Amino acid sequence: MKFATYQHAGKRYVGVVDIEADTVAPFDLSQAQAQRGVACLIDAETLPETLPETGPPVALADVTLEAPLPRPDRNIFCVGKNYFEHAHEFSKSGFDSSAAQGAVPSEPIIFSKVPDCVIGPDQKVLIDPEVSEAIDYEAELAVIIGKGGRGISKEDAMDHVWGYTIVNDVTARDLQGRYSQWIVGKSQDTFCPMGPWAATRDEIDVADTGIRCSVNGETRQSSNTGLMIFDIPTIIEAISAGVTLKPGDVIATGTPAGVGIGFEPPKYLKPGDVVEVEIDGLGKLKNGCGRWRA
Ligand code: MG
Repeated sequence: MKFATYQHAGKRYVGVVDIEADTVAPFDLSQAQAQRGVACLIDAETLPETLPETGPPVALADVTLEAPLPRPDRNIFCVGKNYFEHAHEFSKSGFDSSAAQGAVPSEPIIFSKVPDCVIGPDQKVLIDPEVSEAIDYEAELAVIIGKGGRGISKEDAMDHVWGYTIVNDVTARDLQGRYSQWIVGKSQDTFCPMGPWAATRDEIDVADTGIRCSVNGETRQSSNTGLMIFDIPTIIEAISAGVTLKPGDVIATGTPAGVGIGFEPPKYLKPGDVVEVEIDGLGKLKNGCGRWRA
């Protein structure tokens, strides 16, 4: 199933997406529940009979989609340099403060983005030229945790996955290079587009799913989630070894080759650009770019 968080007639709803019909059917939820986005369903979804009733479907064209988790409860966990070709292109860019450890990491590189930088589909990534003009895109499959836990083994890890969504891990490369911790370059306001909806884990085969990114219609990234260096069970085992994962946590699993700094000269994002990230079975996340202090 696919679940969307959206605005309709001035209120936030969470509903079931019907791709064929191009509609979304709202769950019967309180406004307090709907404020949490699809997170309010995650506990219920472990007991499917408790999913709320849905009302009459509405055309997707008549609603404004938001990020499925408009404001996650905690930072978004992210994995750096998790595809071989991207690890090499990033290592050569001059912005890799982890390059001393070699191009390809021997252990997953885990960093995070603050929840406040999440934006929804069609919202603008805002570029502040006084802070950075080295803005880059990163198409990523994001895991949404269902059942929390600590010390989760690889063997059990997929039982803790509720579903997936798309994240564009927008990055200020110069800030990423300046600070050895990446959080500032990764958490700039508006730098975490997420959506267009969340799909339950049965909807895609993460061992073989196409992932692509285009800028202004030009394909920049085209790969497959089966090519991750550290697969999802390995990532979950690594994080949860000592950090208790909670329902609704989001883990962005890294980006394939073809980011802006992989080009010579680099192809950075600028106001007016349109970035589309597409993952087979999860849809397309489209965001324009604007400017702070227009
Ligand atoms: Mg990334």
